[in-house]
Amino acid sequence: MKKPLLVLLAALMLHACNNNYQQIAIRKKPKNVILLIGDGMGLTQASTAFYYQDKTPSFTRFLHMGLHQNEPTDAKITDSAAGATAFSTGYKSYNSAIGVDEDTVARTTILEMAAKRGQATGVIATSSITHATPASFYAHVANRNLEDEIAAQLVLSPVDFFAGGGIDYFVRRKDGLNYLDSLRANGFKVDTTGLNAPTNWKAGQKYSYLLAPDGMPKMSEGRGGFLPKATQMALEHLSQDKDGFFLMVEGSQIDWGGHANDADWIIDEVKDFDKAIDVALDFAEEDGNTLVIVTADHETGGMSLSAAEVRRQRTYEHINPTFSTGGHSATLIPVYAYGPGAAKFMGIYQNNHIFDRMMEALRW
Ligand code: MG
Ligand code: ZN
Repeated sequence: MKKPLLVLLAALMLHACNNNYQQIAIRKKPKNVILLIGDGMGLTQASTAFYYQDKTPSFTRFLHMGLHQNEPTDAKITDSAAGATAFSTGYKSYNSAIGVDEDTVARTTILEMAAKRGQATGVIATSSITHATPASFYAHVANRNLEDEIAAQLVLSPVDFFAGGGIDYFVRRKDGLNYLDSLRANGFKVDTTGLNAPTNWKAGQKYSYLLAPDGMPKMSEGRGGFLPKATQMALEHLSQDKDGFFLMVEGSQIDWGGHANDADWIIDEVKDFDKAIDVALDFAEEDGNTLVIVTADHETGGMSLSAAEVRRQRTYEHINPTFSTGGHSATLIPVYAYGPGAAKFMGIYQNNHIFDRMMEALRW
């Protein structure tokens, strides 16, 4: 074959392939959903994955993107509780609300809906597993500070796999009870020593990993591969369910680095979260029936990748991250989607419409 013809053929095949993916993203119904939340990960934080590592950022693997506005019902700027509750229930609520609407009425979460449909479910976080973001998927309490109560609700929840910190909320409780025993009594295998995978994942078995007294260590203090590894383990286990699964994975500490105005902390945590996104995307590519959504609840720190100043001269040779606040900001937040239903996440919409769009994609 002549060279121009070969090039044309290759271009046509690529076009067909791309077109086929577009059709899947628009029309196909996903079986599984993986929602990854980078707490406090605005566009600036995500951009650090492009400037502070050699690896290709996972973000480049998404073709469908949107933006969400994240105002809660009682303020202009959201906290993680109202933010995650909007994603998990479809209801905007007040700051501190966990799985309840603005009138403190408990609202069913996507994780609970998945479980009712016979799906397997999981939550993973680098904070305590009872912290606002993960809690909003399985618990219903009026205030995020009620972590003892949230732990009690996790024990009775339909969650099949969880991994994170927060042992203290199970054993150093105000009521003096031992909720690790309660976890076991409610069918969980409990591991507090490490992410030890069983020789064989047992379908229908509940697995829990509680690996720190409260939040997990920072990356810089030796957390290692916890987040991508826990994501991989959850996928191995949950994907055994013929009805599909729902998994929420949180990079919790991007937010904490933001509150501390500590760029190195943020960069390390984003790199780690980036690896977890790759694990989810590798699974989804192979599987073909999995919708992957990556977003954040809000931005933290008012972070900017500013031009550095050298001897009072601004220079475009180097970046010097700067911050405008020790708290959260109101900036719109990117949503990255991959797989069947991904096209639904294009556009600019409210944070609780992420829930609606997941429902639309799943046809629930
Ligand atoms: Mg969080
Ligand atoms: Zn925060």
